[in-house]
Amino acid sequence: MSQYWSDILNSLTPYKAGEQPQNRTYIKLNTNENPYPPCKKSIEKIKDLASDELRLYPDPEANQLKKAIADYYNVPKDAVFVGNSSDEVLALSFLSFFQQKEPILFPDLTYSFYPVYCSLYNIKFECIPLTENFDIEIKDFARTNGGIIFPNPNAPTGKYLETSKIETLLQQNQNSAVIIDEAYVDFGGESCIFLTAKYPNLLITQTFSKSRSLAGLRVGFAVGNPELIDGLNRVKNSFNSYPLDRLAIGGAVEAILDREYFDRCCNLIIKTREWTKEALESLGFYIVPSQANFLFVKHHHYSGKFIYEQLKNRGILVRYFDKDRIREFVRVSIGTIEDMKTFIDAIEIIINLPE
Ligand SMILES: *Cc1c(COP(=O)(O)O)cnc(C)c1O
Repeated sequence: MSQYWSDILNSLTPYKAGEQPQNRTYIKLNTNENPYPPCKKSIEKIKDLASDELRLYPDPEANQLKKAIADYYNVPKDAVFVGNSSDEVLALSFLSFFQQKEPILFPDLTYSFYPVYCSLYNIKFECIPLTENFDIEIKDFARTNGGIIFPNPNAPTGKYLETSKIETLLQQNQNSAVIIDEAYVDFGGESCIFLTAKYPNLLITQTFSKSRSLAGLRVGFAVGNPELIDGLNRVKNSFNSYPLDRLAIGGAVEAILDREYFDRCCNLIIKTREWTKEALESLGFYIVPSQANFLFVKHHHYSGKFIYEQLKNRGILVRYFDKDRIREFVRVSIGTIEDMKTFIDAIEIIINLPE
């Protein structure tokens, strides 16, 4: 607290990102980063762009990147919005669409940034409980609302909802914006971007941080009806005209163009995820079915906190959430196959410790 602060700061509880330790090197399986490097052409481009030209502002509309994304998804360029990370795109979306009379709806277990944006912007919200199996039940969202948002696949569960179910949701909910956060859709799910042409209230957000190995570059985007995109542009141009720098625009364009490398990395991660799942199952873990680059798992005997702490002592970081319904779980990002073998070896030791 400080006398200089605006009033709203006193009621804010900021988002807490997963640990990014700077002191020792861990095997990092806690923030869903990609274990593989960005594509070579991205790095080359970024090196190229680190030049005298940096004295000039970037293109405020990042047209080159919008065009690359529009071509990739076969949508018009004015259906694409880009920003400095998908967290930023989400923050601008909450401000653009969710300040309504009615509360917005999201699942009780979901990306924990959503309630933070709500407190930042004074947006009312209601949490809709997932089923016992962590499924999103579409009919539970059939109530008056100021908007709906959830990730697909969901976080931190990794559970994927079929696009046909999302279409059902859109049919029953036409009077408020629906945002599907597809941060993890490239690891086995299908994107709902094809539905944006049909449903003018649908906005899809995605990020370069997970499937394109560029968490350090901070690039995210949204696809939706040009009316929604126009709204986002108004807010963006009232906040920061140049959210993407020259290096980010150039690096992200190359990442979109290199489909072959992208497919190879995603397939490797999916394969490693399935290997890890089987190894954990044979060690007495329950695993939530995942279409993401992480597994949400619990042991039949040991608590999430115990597993988290024991792994940390052994130089492996996973994510533990001290929250109702999920205290028994840890979330494990999928690393390289070598990382996951080290992880499984450590788990084997931990569950066989004398009590
Ligand atoms: C990682 C993540 C994001 C944020 O991605 P950035 O582009 O790195 O900000 C958004 N939504 C969900 C569900 C995520 O897990």
